[in-house]
Amino acid sequence: MKHYDVIIIGAGAGGGTVAYSLAPTGKRILILERGGYLPKEDDNWNPDAIFQGRKYQIPEKWLNKDNNAFLPQAFYNVGGNTKVYGAALQRMREADFGEVKHQDGISPAWQLSYQDIEPYYTRAESIFKIHGQKGEEPTEPPMSAEYPFSPLPHEPRMQEVADDLQKLGLHPHHLTLAVDRNVEDPENSPCIRCATCDPYPCKIDAKMDAQKACVDPATEYENVELKINTLVTRLITDESGTKVKAVEVETDGNQEQYTADTFILSCGSINSAVLLLKSANNKHSNGLANSSGMVGRNLMLHNHSTLIAIADKLNPTTFQKTLGFNDFYFGSPEHDYPLGQIQMTGKSQWNRLAIFSPDSVPKPTLEYMAEHSVDWWLTSEDLPDPNNRITLTESGKIKVDFTPNNLKTHNDFLNMWQGYLRKIGFFMFMSKKVPLSAVWHQVGTCKFGSDPKTTVLDLNCRTHDLENLYVVDGSFFPSMGAVNPTLTIVANALRVSDHLKNSLG
Ligand SMILES: Cc1cc2nc3c(=O)[nH]c(=O)nc-3n(C[C@H](O)[C@H](O)[C@H](O)COP(=O)(O)OP(=O)(O)OC[C@H]3O[C@@H](n4cnc5c(N)ncnc54)[C@H](O)[C@@H]3O)c2cc1C
Repeated sequence: MKHYDVIIIGAGAGGGTVAYSLAPTGKRILILERGGYLPKEDDNWNPDAIFQGRKYQIPEKWLNKDNNAFLPQAFYNVGGNTKVYGAALQRMREADFGEVKHQDGISPAWQLSYQDIEPYYTRAESIFKIHGQKGEEPTEPPMSAEYPFSPLPHEPRMQEVADDLQKLGLHPHHLTLAVDRNVEDPENSPCIRCATCDPYPCKIDAKMDAQKACVDPATEYENVELKINTLVTRLITDESGTKVKAVEVETDGNQEQYTADTFILSCGSINSAVLLLKSANNKHSNGLANSSGMVGRNLMLHNHSTLIAIADKLNPTTFQKTLGFNDFYFGSPEHDYPLGQIQMTGKSQWNRLAIFSPDSVPKPTLEYMAEHSVDWWLTSEDLPDPNNRITLTESGKIKVDFTPNNLKTHNDFLNMWQGYLRKIGFFMFMSKKVPLSAVWHQVGTCKFGSDPKTTVLDLNCRTHDLENLYVVDGSFFPSMGAVNPTLTIVANALRVSDHLKNSLG
């Protein structure tokens, strides 16, 4: 049995970032990933395969609070969920780190300030090659550097929509995107601005997902080993119960164990909680790192809706996801509580609209609608609630006991935005609240803080209960604002890596 300095469990955004950051230290690092490399093939860009065939999605069934099974939109592969993400990577707003009053209650303050994490946001934006334009919108937090790359320009119809909304007093901004695009020399650019970015895997390796940005560069180092198709089933503690000594894995039908000095858990917020709960032993009867009883609790997912808005004008845009609005992030003249952020989705084709429509709507109608639609994505914050939690059934199934909150905010937001769009020529709308199965923005199940009685992790994301176990995926968030979570996951993983570099010696 080979011994490692560090074992990282999960090769997604959090785990990949720690591997990238620690690789140059020369420490012996093992990354264990349950999935394989997502294949590059024609189906990567085939909407039928993606939307109707659910290709690449995990074949598992999880249970909701009523014990009804659902198919989670989750992805197990090198790069984790970022292989299919929309690559819109955003900083939380400065005020999100403090207490924020919402319609349904309080979004709690972090015990770190925006200034503590700002340098890591800057590094994360460099590693993920962010394209953006500083200074465009009112909620932008202070930034110590420009974005590394200039923004992706809007295509003509999107520029027209941006201009029309600006005339109504709003502040359109360019979405901050993690793509390998040479804006100055598009002919010689890996990213070709195709219509199949969000939520497709990138067939030409031009999306800055966690594999491309972090795991591939990390595994170029001889001291970093990646084992794929290797499911970690249990963390094993030493006799004192104060340290993890080994992980148990299933790989190629075999059970094996690997030992290390330090363990970094990063399976995604839901699966990290699952693994801690499954690793219960006689010293930790409620699961590892769970003396507070908080493991699995406070799950947050965001309230999301897709809004398909149809106008008379054609929308021939190919790469639609360039535009966003944060004017209502902290409220509006009519709402004295935060509403959220507005961004574009990838351009809908008829296959995507079919998901919204009754089966009776014929394909030519869907095609006509898709040609004229502009497709929005609205995100509002949801609030941490200890009753929103991950548990395991007696047979070991994952149960997502979750009741959404802050919904009035979200509905107000959706109605208000349709009002704005009506003023600029949109007359028909189809909206859909994204269901529980879209666990894309999962965070919060091992929140961090200084009090071991109420939190799972300390401020360095080390578990309060086990001296050599860290959690670096989205689990640590005490609240999540209304921006996409991945840049914060990456920035925090860089921060924890700096701490690890000191503590590993
Ligand atoms: C369709 C879609 C669109 C999205 N768009 C955006 C976006 O535009 N912007 C944004 O910020 N975020 C977006 N997200 C969310 C983003 O992908 C996640 O925030 C991010 O991937 C979370 O990082 P993580 O490290 O917590 O988990 P992940 O990146 O999911 O990584 C977890 C890894 O752990 C592995 N794993 C799990 N259990 C085990 C185990 N027991 N043993 C070994 N390995 C294990 C998994 O296979 C996976 O590789 C999107 C997600 C989806 C699905």
